[in-house]
Amino acid sequence: MSATVVVGCQYGDEGKGKIVDLMSRSMDWVARFQGGANAGHTVVIGRKTYVLHLVPSGILHPKTKCVIGHGVVVDPIELLKEIQMLREKDIELDGRLFLSDCAHVILPYHKWLESLDAHDVRVGTTKRGIGPAYEQKYARTGIRVYEFIDPDRFRQRLQEHGEVLERVFRGAGVEPPQPIDRAIEEWVDEYSKVADQIRGFVSETMTLLGDAWRRGEKILCEGAQGTLLDVDMGTYPFVTSSTTTAAGAASGLGLPPSAIRKVVGICKAYATRVGEGPFTSELLGSEAEALREQGGEYGATTGRPRRVGWLDLVALRHAVRVNGIQSLVLTKLDVLSGRTTVPVVIAYDGPNGRMTIPPRDPRALDACRPVIEERPGWSDDLSKVRRYPDLPEAVRDYVEWVGEQVECPVGIVSVGSGRNQVIRVPRSRSQVTAPA
Ligand code: GDP
Repeated sequence: MSATVVVGCQYGDEGKGKIVDLMSRSMDWVARFQGGANAGHTVVIGRKTYVLHLVPSGILHPKTKCVIGHGVVVDPIELLKEIQMLREKDIELDGRLFLSDCAHVILPYHKWLESLDAHDVRVGTTKRGIGPAYEQKYARTGIRVYEFIDPDRFRQRLQEHGEVLERVFRGAGVEPPQPIDRAIEEWVDEYSKVADQIRGFVSETMTLLGDAWRRGEKILCEGAQGTLLDVDMGTYPFVTSSTTTAAGAASGLGLPPSAIRKVVGICKAYATRVGEGPFTSELLGSEAEALREQGGEYGATTGRPRRVGWLDLVALRHAVRVNGIQSLVLTKLDVLSGRTTVPVVIAYDGPNGRMTIPPRDPRALDACRPVIEERPGWSDDLSKVRRYPDLPEAVRDYVEWVGEQVECPVGIVSVGSGRNQVIRVPRSRSQVTAPA
């Protein structure tokens, strides 16, 4: 059959968790392909809220199998905590959760290294050691899961890293948080116990998924963060360490690119960003505070207040193009209720004139001023609406106009955090046809 990729169109926190949960119902597999436990997907089912950082949210559907692919960097302790949380909530995991034997592991010294790195501090990382783990992956010194679960190899690899750590801390003239040789002994001890508990989930997931695809099973590839945080296609250097865009699904899972038949982009009806970096549509002051409060824009993982701004069609157009998005999901429309007008960024004015695709150099981006169009607002509470024709006209106009502007139809709109608070946009209304 085919693989579908779900990606964030903005800076993450677009509400992917809920939409992945919705789409998972009809999937045989849901697979995470990049990132680490810095992504916090929130899924609300009835009275229960599940915040998942590593395990794909598809795990909440009993028939769906879930994969943490080799493109993910895995903190084994975080993974174990999540496994325990899910078991406590009676979610069956055996035979349903598979961890790639080739994923890289995050260990405490990755967090030590992150605190030494001025850039990581500046871009506002979540201090989970994700950046340093990816650095080691690409330096070809990282520890993969198959080494982690083999006690002798793990000890040997840790000792090698211990020698490097000694040199790094000595070179930086900084005392490590604890003597390195003692720390290594403690880690061997502590992490061997963790390895014992996750060994049963370890699998050769590339073959597992490749076979599933050949058998015609349906695979959903779940992206974390968003397009503008992609290491290549985002606002470099204020980006994450992985390929968050659709192409990352193939490399991060080992699926052939030709397996990907559909790309769905999740976009919030306004914008938020965490950490430093260009944010052309950003709002400041009381207007920002009001939108942040209305949207509950505080990090699921860190609790940090998010920067907020208006929907940026220049950035969204970029996301549609680089991911090849065929259908958009517009989330949190309910948050915009109660405004006479809804401002949207339709272009940038830069030193060289008007732009409808963002410049890549962050300095050029910083020099851009947003061109804002005020769209008609609406006052109605949208949270109980379930049918597209029942939405106020201004909302339908907004949805269809956004699709036209970025040349990609909006297929679904979301009007609340609950599983059922979604509305399908009839095909005839999503007037735009994306390239096949
Ligand atoms: P993700 O990282 O993209 O999965 O985003 P999160 O799950 O961290 O953030 C989305 C937050 O918004 C969660 O608390 C969701 O429950 C909530 N959410 C998702 N869709 C909607 C929506 O349409 N309206 C409202 N009000 N909240 C939503």
